[in-house]
Amino acid sequence: MKSDTIAAIATAPGRGGVGVIRISGSNLLPFAFALTGKTPKPRYATLADFKAGDGTAIDSGLLLYFPDPHSFTGEDVLELQGHGGPVVMQMLLARCLDLGARLAEPGEFSRRAFLNGKLDLAQAEAVADLIDAATTSAARSAVRSLQGEFSKAIHGLTDELINLRMLVEATLDFPEEDIDFLKAANAFGRLENLQIRLAEVFDRAGQGKLLQAGLHVVLAGQPNVGKSSLLNRLAGDDLAIVTPIAGTTRDALRSTIQIEGIPLHIIDTAGLRETEDEVEKIGIERSWREIERSDVVLLLVDARSGVSAADREILDRLPERLQRITVYNKIDLSGAQAERHDEAETTAIALSARSGDGIELLRQELLRIAGWHQTEDVFIARERHLRALAMAQEHIAAARSVVESALPALELFAEELRLAQHALGEITGEFTADDLLGVIFSRFCIGK
Ligand code: GDP
Ligand code: ZN
Repeated sequence: MKSDTIAAIATAPGRGGVGVIRISGSNLLPFAFALTGKTPKPRYATLADFKAGDGTAIDSGLLLYFPDPHSFTGEDVLELQGHGGPVVMQMLLARCLDLGARLAEPGEFSRRAFLNGKLDLAQAEAVADLIDAATTSAARSAVRSLQGEFSKAIHGLTDELINLRMLVEATLDFPEEDIDFLKAANAFGRLENLQIRLAEVFDRAGQGKLLQAGLHVVLAGQPNVGKSSLLNRLAGDDLAIVTPIAGTTRDALRSTIQIEGIPLHIIDTAGLRETEDEVEKIGIERSWREIERSDVVLLLVDARSGVSAADREILDRLPERLQRITVYNKIDLSGAQAERHDEAETTAIALSARSGDGIELLRQELLRIAGWHQTEDVFIARERHLRALAMAQEHIAAARSVVESALPALELFAEELRLAQHALGEITGEFTADDLLGVIFSRFCIGK
């Protein structure tokens, strides 16, 4: 299929040693020739002048040519490596548009890679997750998904489902065969085994989603109780490896630290005061929206005075759904022991941000709330994947109860297996609605 030619600056905006423009389309050799007067050799770096319409050079750099189908998108791809100045890059991009390319939409290269079968959907999403990774653990597991480990697990489950479905369909086609035939083929043992494997994949994906999304924490407490000190302590040596989630800007109210590779997104309610400043108001509104979808509130108080009326007021404004941890700080001054105990509606931890005594208790408590348990080889995953896996689990469970009932209906059994397979197919993109694809790829950056 012939597609139009798209172009985008692939490197981050701003100045850099090298800037890359990526072009994808069909039959790009004439395009390369018009731009440089050269015919590049596939997969070699060609030194070239990138020329304006009047023949003067805009820049000189390297031209790379990846012919269809052996390229990222599966189409002809050109990469122009020029000098990474914003003006040069813009001039070069404008020249590409003159030559007939159009500006790529966010994620359009990856979308073409997906449509051309170079990547499945879970892999394409891993590309974005790798770019957005907030911790090294998240980056490592994104690469695993990108290399297809998650997809392989899904394909393994799907193959087994297909085998089972073939058995059942055969039974349906030949009415003289019946449930005993399925029993003889160990269909139910295999179904049970599938259930176990599905649960394992669900668990790994759940850990991967944690690495991708992190834990959202609201930090509350009066001035001077030690909020900043605690954050620094929690962050430990790898002081705040911070990346904003795509599309949002970082602001003073929000910071990201990590515990054992899990990103902790922390909103400091100290910044949520009344203000007349318009810019500040926007930031505060955004923080409240983040608080709405947070997981846990950490209320920090002075161990010597405990929870005050002002603290309660803040707690009352937070969603009740949030898990709560009350931290009694400065035990080095109060003389209390570092410890964890349960109170009426909260877990309490006594610690000293200054000495570090009791910090480990808090770290473990946060990991516990996050649901983190060290698993080998986590692959990155998203909420969308977890929902699809849960859906598949439901259909398998339904399939089991159908065949275990007194009057097993094999048509129903077959249908549940089909629905389970369909749910798995949504993860890799075999069955995915176009509008969902639009949503997924629109969150990518331009040039990816
Ligand atoms: P924030 O206003 O809540 O962010 O509080 P800070 O982190 O700025 O701390 C306020 C003051 O309390 C600073 O002088 C800190 O050094 C001190 N502080 C914080 N945590 C402790 C602690 O555990 N023990 C003692 N002795 N002082 C602390
Ligand atoms: Zn967040």
